[in-house]
Amino acid sequence: MTINTQAPPTFTGNKALQIEEALSFEIGGLDRTGVDFPPAEDRADRLGGLGRGSDIGLPGLSEPETMRHFVRLSQKNYAIDMGPFPLGSCTMKHNPRLNEKIARLPGFADLHPLAPQSCAQGALELIDTLAYWLKELTGMPAVAMSPKAGAHGELCGMMAIKAAIDARGEGARRTRVLAPESAHGTNPATAVQCGFTVEAIPADATGRVDLAALKEKLGPDVAAIMVTNPNTCGLFERDIRAIADAVHDAGGYFYCDGANFNAIAGKVKPGDLGVDAMHINLHKTFSTPHGGGGPGAGPTVLAQTLAEFAPVPFVVRRDGKYQLVETPGAESFGRLTAFHGQMGMFTRALAYMMSHGVDGVRQVAEDAVLNANYVLARLKAEMTPAFDGYCMHEALFDDRFLKDTGVETIDFAKAMIDEGYHPMTMYFPLVVHGAMLIEPTESESKRELDLFCDALLSLAKRAKAGATEAFKAAPVYAPRRRLDETAAARKPVLRWTPA
Ligand SMILES: *Cc1c(COP(=O)(O)O)cnc(C)c1O
Repeated sequence: MTINTQAPPTFTGNKALQIEEALSFEIGGLDRTGVDFPPAEDRADRLGGLGRGSDIGLPGLSEPETMRHFVRLSQKNYAIDMGPFPLGSCTMKHNPRLNEKIARLPGFADLHPLAPQSCAQGALELIDTLAYWLKELTGMPAVAMSPKAGAHGELCGMMAIKAAIDARGEGARRTRVLAPESAHGTNPATAVQCGFTVEAIPADATGRVDLAALKEKLGPDVAAIMVTNPNTCGLFERDIRAIADAVHDAGGYFYCDGANFNAIAGKVKPGDLGVDAMHINLHKTFSTPHGGGGPGAGPTVLAQTLAEFAPVPFVVRRDGKYQLVETPGAESFGRLTAFHGQMGMFTRALAYMMSHGVDGVRQVAEDAVLNANYVLARLKAEMTPAFDGYCMHEALFDDRFLKDTGVETIDFAKAMIDEGYHPMTMYFPLVVHGAMLIEPTESESKRELDLFCDALLSLAKRAKAGATEAFKAAPVYAPRRRLDETAAARKPVLRWTPA
């Protein structure tokens, strides 16, 4: 196949029905407005001199101009509703529309967080029911519902661990946290945020925690270990019980990063594995929408060892009524956030759980693992799996298959955009050279998986056949070529200045 990059530029800059979009400041004008009001009567200022004296500086657009601007921008975005979203570790599954319908019920959607508890019994029951099922699925006795993301859930769990260590009078001594080299960046960040120093545990040749190396690092100064299971290489930590025992014997706590719970929900109870605290990403495992920074929800389940250190608020049922406990007990580390957590996500997650049932949740995990192994089995014809054997919910490849082609992981990912696919997770986990982490989730049909695999296989063949220049030029069909994302993040230009 040859790529036609020679199409002549159009007068407008538009490409067929893909419209070039200017900034709203360029479309509208500071001296224009989309509405006609008669001039305001000259009245005495009732704002005590606080009325705006200068222009607000926002562009005026007509209603159709406003509509088109935002609809066109939205069409430049990629979404799970448009096609597969194989970002490893992110669990970009379909968000069932039933969830949306339930979340929009006025009784849930229009409730104010400061409404009296007597008027919010249904919402409190919903939080309590979701909490019950999260405890049931994880085999843990307590859960903090208020964390608003996975990373926030980690913070919750590690603050509970810190409080427990302080309560034992060991706060000054236990200052180290151990985390595998393949850990998600939020793990060490959370530990540091809680005042710990972080030390990496090496992986063994199979991509799992090196148990012997871990044991050597344990000691009376270790507060906790943070382990993801299944881990970010898409592999189940087979030694998980031995890991938990070793950490407990050394007096430390076992924080499990539960972001990959989708692979084992309904199959394995983390409580049986010796876990002391674990966050669950409702926006991954339980299908609430995510991407672009939120919203999310990261309830954190806690073992008996940590339950009394849990934050407020939590819901209890007394005399047939639901009550929100907002006053921290003696050991509680306090409050993590305003209000009660992400109610809209709770509603969606519970709708997902109840529409699936326990058998359905188990099948989700089985299908997610089956799909990932199907992708692994097909792609290994041309690509190089990072580790031998089956995977869990995501398939990890390294860049050995691109050796001597001049094509790098980033080029391969950019070429995927031209084929109509959002790239997989790249260069993570760090333990694998040029990592490509693919998580298809259970949502994709065999037809979709086959198309996706065919596209990647053809790209791999083209790379090996020497189409290096085409890869370096990719993406050619996207509205923009390669953007300097580092500069955009480090030196963001957030203010429009008139030309
Ligand atoms: C997604 C993820 C997190 C963080 O979750 P957020 O909701 O994005 O804060 C932590 N660990 C792992 C392994 C993840 O995949």
